[in-house]
Amino acid sequence: MRRNRLISRARTSASADALAKLARRLSESGSRIEDRLWERRLVESINDRLGRGFADDIEAALEELSRTQARAYDDLADLAESCAESATVEIDGKPHDALLLAVPLLAWSRYRLPATTLAPSLVDAIGAQLAGHLAARGTRIAVADYLYSIDQLPESFGEVHDAAQKLFEACVAGRRLKIDGKGLREPVMMLADTRYVLAAIVAPQGAPLYHWQETGVDPDAKTAALTAFREQVGGALAPLMTGCRYRVLAPNAFHAALRQADRELREFSLEAAVSYLKLAYDMNPASLQATFAAFEDKRVEEMRIGIGPAGNDDSVIEGVVWPLLGDEEERAQEEIDAGLRRLGVNRVTAHAHRFPLEYCDDCGAPMFPNPAGHAVHAEPPEDAEELPAAPLH
Ligand SMILES: [Zn+2]
Repeated sequence: MRRNRLISRARTSASADALAKLARRLSESGSRIEDRLWERRLVESINDRLGRGFADDIEAALEELSRTQARAYDDLADLAESCAESATVEIDGKPHDALLLAVPLLAWSRYRLPATTLAPSLVDAIGAQLAGHLAARGTRIAVADYLYSIDQLPESFGEVHDAAQKLFEACVAGRRLKIDGKGLREPVMMLADTRYVLAAIVAPQGAPLYHWQETGVDPDAKTAALTAFREQVGGALAPLMTGCRYRVLAPNAFHAALRQADRELREFSLEAAVSYLKLAYDMNPASLQATFAAFEDKRVEEMRIGIGPAGNDDSVIEGVVWPLLGDEEERAQEEIDAGLRRLGVNRVTAHAHRFPLEYCDDCGAPMFPNPAGHAVHAEPPEDAEELPAAPLH
């Protein structure tokens, strides 16, 4: 057994090295013509690993490049994401392009946000809206019958590839994809969070995927199409989202949609926290004060915002985590400050010192900064009469 493991590790490392080498050459290329050749070789190599279940080699190559060559890392990551979420499939002997789509939602609630199986009629309604507002003529759509939380979605390149393949098969066969919810992780409970519907679109190779790409259609038709889609799907989801405030975001290719949703969730969470304090404790934005600071492990990971009653510099009633997502800390500070003021919270303290990335030992909740300069547990106000339905611990 040990011998096998050693052989397997040696193979993995040679395979990862080969990918890293191609990515370095691509990142040095000075022309589209040279790019295309390296890209083609990389795509073949990545697809080969994904197809044989060796996606770990891709992660290992990225790990190696992340320490040394940022551009090569970005090039390989872009191609790996693209290969995991797309494929060429055959229908009636003809090659077709297949792409995994995600439809993100931002939602918040005093109750548990749903992560659940979608009724067949709802799956069909979402499929019809994708076909009606997004898809080009001659494409096919399939929708998976589950509303996912972020921690239930496929994560590694291998998992994304496998999930995409199942949806592509459903698309070719013209049916819904059934998801067994029992096999999925229990979502972490948050006041505000993202939810996702997964779908696939398949088009004849080289033909438009989206209708605003069709010849003779104004490319700007995209804006109105997405607005209509978001409204219609928002309406269709209403029975499922009882007790939640939510917003449907624009669908996109899987990885791009997740990134956009992560970004938009930050300000949405701030809004949710301020609305929640009004709804649960009748605290107006003008009666609140907010404190924010950078929280770091080895490097600065995220900003955290503690919100509590004005005049009490120890208390934090509700908190928001603001991940940096590659942004500069300074820019995040400006956005948080502006976001709070837009919501009517004008008493804002920004701490210049860094806090350790701490969580509660009992419940795992993040600790939030208070105006006095400590990281504390969010607690309901002492004189709260109406306890919120969601236990705050
Ligand atoms: Zn706790």
